[in-house]
Amino acid sequence: MIITIDGAAGTGKTTVGILTANRLNFDFLDTGKIYRAFTLKLIKDSISLEKKEIIKHLDKTKINYSYKEKKESVYLNKIDITDEILSKEVDNNVSLVSKIPEVRDKMTSLQRSIVSDKNFVVVGRDIGTVVLPNAELKIFLIASIEERARRRFAEREDQSYSDILESIKNRDVIDSTREVAPLKTPENAVIIDTEGIDIIEVSNKIIKEIDNEHSI
Ligand code: C5P
Repeated sequence: MIITIDGAAGTGKTTVGILTANRLNFDFLDTGKIYRAFTLKLIKDSISLEKKEIIKHLDKTKINYSYKEKKESVYLNKIDITDEILSKEVDNNVSLVSKIPEVRDKMTSLQRSIVSDKNFVVVGRDIGTVVLPNAELKIFLIASIEERARRRFAEREDQSYSDILESIKNRDVIDSTREVAPLKTPENAVIIDTEGIDIIEVSNKIIKEIDNEHSI
């Protein structure tokens, strides 16, 4: 069974996704980490963020993602970059990189190859719409921009609240207006407003959906 969780930055996708995957004993994939890894590679190599230059680097980049013993690990050409991909530079550039169709093609193939025939919770922006449209259960998380910025602020040590708010606003615009695979609610998705709700409660709602509608 595949459960997709899509939503904008700070809606709680990763935290809720990991909690739900652990409770169900499912595998987990955060697709945002893969776009972040490629963006970090471009920043590290001081590549100008022009489409032509970015595309040239697609084949030179080897990204590995694993979720083992309840921990995510991300590798770039075999170097562990799990923490580095959460930097301010990556936050501020990842949406510009992710909107390029060639980048999406490559990352979508990688994501599909990770999600084999096991039970998976997969989180991102276009998982229920494009990457895994046949998923058995699709969730779309929402929350106000202020709440989302507050959550990110609590997680990040290197950025002010106002910088984070601005960065999330910019990413929302780019992610939801890009031509290929924009952030939008998948058809038949269950929409959960996470504003002021405990993550356990959000996860309970997801698990209840499985009990109501699906069998595992
Ligand atoms: O989820 P997270 O905030 O880590 O994602 C970082 C960025 O990666 C998003 O703002 C978006 O530009 C891109 N992304 C995407 N498609 C996905 C997951 C993430 O375009 N499925």
